[in-house]
Amino acid sequence: MAGTIKGLTTDQLEEIGCQIILGNTYHLALRPTSELIDELGGLHKFMNWPRALLTDSGGFQMVSLLHLADITEKGVTFQASCFLTQSPVDGKPMLLTPEESIQIQNRIGADIIMALDDVVKTTITGPRIEEAMYRTLRWIDRCIAAHKRPHDQNLFGIVQGGLDPVLRDICVRGLVDRNLPGYVHSIYAIGGLAGGEDKDSFWRVVAQCTATLPEDKPRYVMGVGYPLDIVVCSALGADMYDCVYPTRTARFGTALVPEGVLKLKHRAMAEDTRPIDPTCACMVCKNYTRAYIHSLVTKDAMGSQLLSFHNLYYMMQVCMQLFAENGNLFLPATDLSKI
Ligand SMILES: [Zn+2]
Repeated sequence: MAGTIKGLTTDQLEEIGCQIILGNTYHLALRPTSELIDELGGLHKFMNWPRALLTDSGGFQMVSLLHLADITEKGVTFQASCFLTQSPVDGKPMLLTPEESIQIQNRIGADIIMALDDVVKTTITGPRIEEAMYRTLRWIDRCIAAHKRPHDQNLFGIVQGGLDPVLRDICVRGLVDRNLPGYVHSIYAIGGLAGGEDKDSFWRVVAQCTATLPEDKPRYVMGVGYPLDIVVCSALGADMYDCVYPTRTARFGTALVPEGVLKLKHRAMAEDTRPIDPTCACMVCKNYTRAYIHSLVTKDAMGSQLLSFHNLYYMMQVCMQLFAENGNLFLPATDLSKI
């Protein structure tokens, strides 16, 4: 079930200093459903999290997870039966419209919600990029019109336009004209996400967008990232990130440390009595040795829980340092994704 950071309690997340958590609309809408969350008092209450929450539009996951997704002016159409195993719908194409995405997010009740955008891979070129950018601008008006809780939920708009600076600029100006509470860089499947084939283009897009978006509104780079990406994006003016990396890599037995990564599965850890990171002040590094975590990792859930705790603590420290140095507005969202 989405609605949890794998292996950590909300008390532990508060202890680590997490300020905001991201919930995946697609997973939450599937199970336990947005209607049930609404009935039970909203996601804050449902998962016992008093701090901030953010949800995505649901569209990105449909497009990235479901290869059969098709985007038309109405919305994102997808083949329900191929993925929604819990859905009563059988084989009939389902449609997620901008209005529906907002309605679902209104029910879930996060503090920050995302407009449905026309998602395209940034590496695609040609007229499709332009079409997606203008459609995203048309859809933002439908999202604004459908938004029933503007007084307590902040709707963020998403900047499209691929790697084309002219299209990016048109999109930024269009969104800024709508005076939204925050803005998102959508940089799907280029360097920062995929692992390095085109970092230059990625930085250029982030730099251009942050330079033209208002400084007093959060500028969120969606799906970033690795510690290095966060450091660079912050230097370029971005304020918010989300990433499954710290917890996902923990489940593979990897700890984040100032030198890079430490693989706790490695045999060399078996008799190492040092903490994961001797310079780290987290609960795990204060109480447990590498040898102990090595003995648990892959055998007991406790191993990945301890590593997740340390990794999130580590990322929070990196971000708080950036916050102090750059004055970036926000801390990173910790991704709830079950991926
Ligand atoms: Zn630690």
